[in-house]
Amino acid sequence: MRILANDGIDAVGKKILEEAGFEVDTNHIPQEELIEKLNAYDAITVRSATKVRQALIDACPNIKAIGRGGVGMDNIDVDYARSKGIAVINTPAASSLSVAELVFAHLLNGVRFLYDSNRKMVGEGNTNFGGLKKAYAKGVELRGKTIGIVGFGRIGRETAKVALGLGMDVIYTDLYDGPASLELTLSGGIQVDVPVHQVSFEEVLKKSDFISLHVPFLEKAAISKDEFAVMKDGVGLVNASRGGVIDELELIQALDSGKVAFAALDVFDNEPTPRQEILTHPKISLTPHIGAATNEAQERIGVELANLLIDALKK
Ligand code: NAD
Repeated sequence: MRILANDGIDAVGKKILEEAGFEVDTNHIPQEELIEKLNAYDAITVRSATKVRQALIDACPNIKAIGRGGVGMDNIDVDYARSKGIAVINTPAASSLSVAELVFAHLLNGVRFLYDSNRKMVGEGNTNFGGLKKAYAKGVELRGKTIGIVGFGRIGRETAKVALGLGMDVIYTDLYDGPASLELTLSGGIQVDVPVHQVSFEEVLKKSDFISLHVPFLEKAAISKDEFAVMKDGVGLVNASRGGVIDELELIQALDSGKVAFAALDVFDNEPTPRQEILTHPKISLTPHIGAATNEAQERIGVELANLLIDALKK
């Protein structure tokens, strides 16, 4: 059987598939050529780039499985594929820790103004650090502060664990009842159970020093004008969930007024071409949707995808 890994697959995952007897082609076929070429394969794996829409599915009756390395399946017509008896697989848990660690890369960056000093020291670094020492004099520590997590699923919980490890208090909100504590595994394998507190969305907004968003894409932005209004003055905000979860135009207003001290965005409206006002804003720390982009996460994704594909194709 032949598998087209059209957006690539980690080497360990590829090896697992090959050892199970599959031929894995990692040559990328451009989207417009897939309709002619994909039917030569039994399965396709994609990340977010390749789209697997109804017309492609109809043109390729040989396809028995579609694998998405990662979480979001917005690029696949999932229900349609399943209605045709095609297995559709993703790897939702493999990247949670990497996304959570990126949240803290951004938070530590935010509380010490790294997003700004990295831009400004280049131009102003020559004379007594160009007055930048003074500009960055009011950093804050994370320990003892409250982080509010919106969406306490896989990534929200991993984010909470990193926060607890740093000595932060964790409050969270979710549509469903969640845990009253999380088990942390510290170095040396020591396990400790640490309390977390489920509260209303409004309480998260009101009580948090930092807010991190981990909900799926919603019809309407979860954070817009009314939500900014009830937040603490000087709150720090991270969005590594999906573009559109924060209203970007209202975010700019909230940053400019000082309501929000800094924001960190890994996801944007209109990816991969976010609006210029966001890209150039002096209070925004930016990453280009790299939440899952670690060696460890990519290996876990590859291994999980390979094993799920083997199960689906050998049925
Ligand atoms: P998940 O499904 O495990 O968790 C989402 C949680 O949000 C669930 O517990 C759900 O009940 C809750 N929820 C949904 N709507 C809500 C609402 N209106 N209010 C409060 N809670 C609500 O998902 P996950 O794996 O933790 O992923 C979270 C987000 O991160 C998704 O948007 C996903 O696409 C995104 N993500 C981003 C990256 C990245 O590279 N930045 C990587 C992976 C996932």
